[in-house]
Amino acid sequence: MAEATETIYDLAVIGGGPGGYTAAIRAAQYGLKVALIEKTDRLGGTCLHVGCIPTKALLFNAEVWEHVLHGAKLGIDGIGEATLNWANVQRRKNEIIIKHTKGLDFLMRKHKITTVTGYGRLSGPAKDGVHTVEVQTGDTNGTMSFIRAKKIILATGSVARMLPGYQADDKILTNIEVLSLETMPKSLVIIGSGAVGSEFASIFRSFGAEITLLEALPRIVPAEDEEISRELARVYKKRGITVLSGIKLEKIEKTDAGVKVSFSTAEGKAEIKEADKVLVAVGRAPRTENIGLEKTRINLDRGFISTDEWMETAEPGVFAIGDIVAGLPQLAHVASMCGMVVAARIAGKYARAVTRNRVPGCTYTQPQIGSIGLTEAAAKEKGHIIKVGKFPFAGNSKATILGSHDGFVKVVADAKYGEILGVHIIGPQATELIAEAVTALDLEATVESMMFTLHAHPTLAESLLDGFAAVEGMAINA
Ligand SMILES: Cc1cc2nc3c(=O)[nH]c(=O)nc-3n(C[C@H](O)[C@H](O)[C@H](O)COP(=O)(O)OP(=O)(O)OC[C@H]3O[C@@H](n4cnc5c(N)ncnc54)[C@H](O)[C@@H]3O)c2cc1C
Repeated sequence: MAEATETIYDLAVIGGGPGGYTAAIRAAQYGLKVALIEKTDRLGGTCLHVGCIPTKALLFNAEVWEHVLHGAKLGIDGIGEATLNWANVQRRKNEIIIKHTKGLDFLMRKHKITTVTGYGRLSGPAKDGVHTVEVQTGDTNGTMSFIRAKKIILATGSVARMLPGYQADDKILTNIEVLSLETMPKSLVIIGSGAVGSEFASIFRSFGAEITLLEALPRIVPAEDEEISRELARVYKKRGITVLSGIKLEKIEKTDAGVKVSFSTAEGKAEIKEADKVLVAVGRAPRTENIGLEKTRINLDRGFISTDEWMETAEPGVFAIGDIVAGLPQLAHVASMCGMVVAARIAGKYARAVTRNRVPGCTYTQPQIGSIGLTEAAAKEKGHIIKVGKFPFAGNSKATILGSHDGFVKVVADAKYGEILGVHIIGPQATELIAEAVTALDLEATVESMMFTLHAHPTLAESLLDGFAAVEGMAINA
């Protein structure tokens, strides 16, 4: 009887989130034979199931709801009877997730990628140029199989950090529990004002919940330019969100009615806030334990995997992408682009490395935030002599049409040559508008060249044209 030949894949990817599935598809497009190992029975990872997609689905509902509530201002009468059907809001969100999960299954079939359901773990360094991944199916008693491949990509993603001594349940929530609430909370305390905390604050406020947003650092959305933080805090206060930064959390107690959160304010005053639920949004921990790293030369930096600029770890032939990588922001578009870069490198094709200051950050709050490059403070810290231009959305006609005047475009540029160093937008559709700034920075555009780039009228994009011109004190509409 002929002996069965074992498949040796060109690439095995562990983790089927946006990093992993994008790497797998791109590698297959280059003609590589690919296996994708995912521990759950559905591809898509945090992003599709409990992150980007469900939050933005809820955000869309929240925006529509706000328009409905303020319909009279738009000349639409008689909608005072409207009620929010929370079950249907949740159902729509779930249908979006299901549609895209099926879409990923289709893409795997289309690209002839072998998908393996099971928990993947490296079995050690490569032997004769071939790596082995142990794949365990089911629970710890599940069967073990082995996938062999010339190259490996680790894309195991991250999990929400919990405060020490607490566990997520029906009152103390992470992104997972908050996205599947069966009823709308009337009040919510949110601990942490990064993108995740700030987005949930915006969404649930639109749905009518009383929101308290607590931040330990001196300002909310602390990674953004200081003026952006100030503007978001101003608008949030106007929207009725209680924003408290510089706080020190003392404890969370569960009560019959909900939760009691004790903290001291920036001024040192002890406060207690009671609410239906508390959402803990204090960052995400990389999933790098129990995936066989100890058997390799891979280096960790506070739990994150260290790589070179091409995402290769210290173990030759083993790459890491996405939320597990040290020094890169935990964003879906970073994960997927790193996946594309690695696939190109493995296939021997042209690739461009992902660099930190070319990563756009988007926060889907209301108003939205889109930013790229250096903040004003970071540019000064790096020794740049800069010029700053700022253009308010109040001067943009499309913003008026949309009834959305809060916010501004802020451009940080090199004073001598006019190179654009950073663009920071808070306002309507900022997460879409930032795409132009990404291209401008990527192409090392100058303020002058952008001042002569045509922007259609009337568009929100014109606010960028005015923003660039504002660097030279020449905005037309302000
Ligand atoms: C509430 C929320 C909102 C967000 N919104 C945005 C947004 O709007 N835009 C944005 O860019 N980013 C957003 N993010 C961040 C984004 O979700 C992550 O950056 C992105 O999902 C990271 O992709 P990844 O492929 O590295 O990991 P993940 O998406 O976490 O996927 C990892 C996959 O690996 C699997 N896995 C783990 N270990 C193993 C193993 N040993 N064997 C097999 N499989 C394994 C997991 O089951 C999972 O499917 C959001 C995050 C949250 C929590």
